[in-house]
Amino acid sequence: MRRPRVFVEELGERPVARGSEAHHLYHVLRLRPGDRVILFDGRGREADGVVSEASATEVRFAAAAARPVRREPPFELTLYVALLKGDKLAGVVRAGSELGVSRFVLLITERSVPRGMGRAKLERLRRIALEAAKQSGRSRLAEVSEPRTLDELEPVPFGLVAHPAAARTLEGVAWPESGRLALASGPEGGFSPAEVERLSGLGFAPVYLGPRILRAETAPLVLAAAATAARGL
Ligand code: SAM
Repeated sequence: MRRPRVFVEELGERPVARGSEAHHLYHVLRLRPGDRVILFDGRGREADGVVSEASATEVRFAAAAARPVRREPPFELTLYVALLKGDKLAGVVRAGSELGVSRFVLLITERSVPRGMGRAKLERLRRIALEAAKQSGRSRLAEVSEPRTLDELEPVPFGLVAHPAAARTLEGVAWPESGRLALASGPEGGFSPAEVERLSGLGFAPVYLGPRILRAETAPLVLAAAATAARGL
């Protein structure tokens, strides 16, 4: 049987999973003493582990020495995604995490229908990033930041913003080999011209993704996939 991947805050000889993670391990995966797992800390390290004690609130492990694992892209990929209606961001966070996104920055834009995000919904997105990291074998956990406005953004060293009216396509983009990559996509109603100008001023070059208008939850994943595919990752 495939060994479950278990997230723990700290790897060491006696790591512990708590809270909702322990609940999931105990009630859903039904882990019990003697079961073997792979422990990961979401910061690039893994260790083989064996359950030593299990309850619904705490699962304890005996762990072997931690080892660094390399399943991450060589660059740090930040996806700037506008707040979207309903539960659409869940799919973006799930698939974006599988693709290697390091950080999701949620944007409150002029045309975003939701004007913010409650704590419970944000925590759920973080939980989805964790589940995607486990399922895909990722060694790092993607961050999901609190929503912010474009006025709160810092300039970026390399950025692209998906914009249907842009002249430039993804063909011929000189993707950096390392460092920070920033990719932005808009809400269902698109970015306003002033927002595109503001993002351009921060270092996001507008790009056209083709003659079809993609859904607001598809476009960010196309950008992330293009960045990783360009490096064969
Ligand atoms: N009418 C809107 C507009 O003109 O921007 C369409 C918005 S689209 C549903 C949502 C977001 O996906 C856009 O803000 C953009 O970031 C991205 N997008 C969708 N299709 C695109 C395309 N063909 N080229 C570039 N960006 C696209």
